[in-house]
Amino acid sequence: MSVDPPVIVWFRQDLRLADNPALHAAAESGRAVLPVFILDDESPGPWRPGGAARWWLHQSLASLQADLHKAGVSLILRRGRADEALAQLVAETNADTVYWNRAVEPWAIALERQIVAGLEARNVTVRSFGAALLAEPHSVQTKSGGPFKVFTPFWRTLQELPPFAPPLPAPRSLRPFEDISGDTLEQWDLLPTSPDWSGGLREAWVPGEAMAQAQLEAFLAEPVAAYPVSRDFPDVAGTSRLSPYLHWGEVSPRQVWSAANSSGLGHAMSEGRQAIRRQLAWREFNHHLLVDFPEMPDKNWKSSFDAFPWRQDSEQLAAWQRGNTGYPLVDAGMRELWHTGWMHNRVRMIAASFLVKHLLIDWRAGAAWFWDTLVDANLANNSANWQWVAGSGADAAPYFRIFNPARQGARFDSDGGYVRRWVPVLQDLPSKWIHEPWRAPADELAGVGVTLGENYPAPIVDHAIARQRALAAYAETKAHAAA
Ligand code: FAD
Repeated sequence: MSVDPPVIVWFRQDLRLADNPALHAAAESGRAVLPVFILDDESPGPWRPGGAARWWLHQSLASLQADLHKAGVSLILRRGRADEALAQLVAETNADTVYWNRAVEPWAIALERQIVAGLEARNVTVRSFGAALLAEPHSVQTKSGGPFKVFTPFWRTLQELPPFAPPLPAPRSLRPFEDISGDTLEQWDLLPTSPDWSGGLREAWVPGEAMAQAQLEAFLAEPVAAYPVSRDFPDVAGTSRLSPYLHWGEVSPRQVWSAANSSGLGHAMSEGRQAIRRQLAWREFNHHLLVDFPEMPDKNWKSSFDAFPWRQDSEQLAAWQRGNTGYPLVDAGMRELWHTGWMHNRVRMIAASFLVKHLLIDWRAGAAWFWDTLVDANLANNSANWQWVAGSGADAAPYFRIFNPARQGARFDSDGGYVRRWVPVLQDLPSKWIHEPWRAPADELAGVGVTLGENYPAPIVDHAIARQRALAAYAETKAHAAA
């Protein structure tokens, strides 16, 4: 155990040992390493982790603690504003060096600037590293030198960059510093207790770096070959389910990119791996957008949407949140989210579109619900995708593209397996009616024990009427913007 000043490594959304440049550099220094995680609920303002993300964070930190322990050091847990907590730790340990991996949320960038200024004023050496993205912000630019606002040319340019550096190995062992006091995870109350609603999350997930790697390997070994098609079918385990691991940095985008290398593989395998890299590039695109347009979580990208006639309807918002809209695919998605903290991407698009277009409820209300209920809640991805669905975003779906949930169901969940799983009251309904039970003859409904309005809601809006209303609202907004 060293008594010389340690290198403090501040862990954030990089809860892993491998491909962790800050930890790697600290290990390479040959000095004692003092890893710290700070639960800072103040600096992020409204963007502190929501309920489901806190559950994930608890598990992930427990896993990181164990992994660091095996490498020879203890993770110190501190609570409070990160700038104050770091200054305090520096004072306690006489540390003269602090390393971390950069984050890209606007509040995190502002916080980092403040911390750098504070520590440098105390003659502490600060080094920060890029680890959250494939390419650093501002390094993927248009020919005229600005940020991309459209995905396809961004994706093309990303692929033309010099190869990304190979992922770094995990340090084999780390030199510990003397014992330093800290909180226990349990003291942070990250887990829900009254009531404990996390049973479904526990069934669905094992957070941590080891599981992230295992999941990545298992996905790339086989399912990835079918991914370009199966990724659209919510009843098939056709996607990687890596999103929460990527959000918390239990796996790095570089690790996924590198593992998804397709050279020397057959056609289906290499197409599938390229398709996964393309989705990773959407993540990348959204993060770069957030750095360039930090108001993205709060403001319409297209200011013409500022005049959009959103409706305030707390009853319909609650029906959507709890999966009681009467549209089985939307309800199945919202119940999957509530139960597991995750929702399939196609269903996220349909459920989000339903809120914004069928109910005319502001996308920010939907984004806020997702923020609290998703284990992968991520400021860049959540804001950009909600604005994409709403039509107000940078490279957005056109507003007049209004998903018909019944038709989407017939196409992507044709035998209703997904709906049957998440809305079990509809389990025995013939596939013909599974996505539009309101059209089923009364005796067929009664025969399978479904009573609309009693054990399953009648549709809270009529699709055709809601569609017309949404188009009219959009036309009104456009006219307003043109005036
Ligand atoms: P895969 O299909 O296996 O893709 C691999 C990885 O690529 C994902 O883990 C993710 O990091 C990235 N990716 C895939 N699709 C997208 C996308 N559309 N945009 C950005 N990155 C993508 N994703 C989040 O990580 N956090 C969010 O808060 C979030 N909110 C969303 C809100 C809405 C309204 C919508 C429509 C999508 C949202 N997404 C969000 C994107 C997407 O739904 C999830 O990333 C995906 O479903 C995660 O499952 P997976 O890991 O199996 O994805």
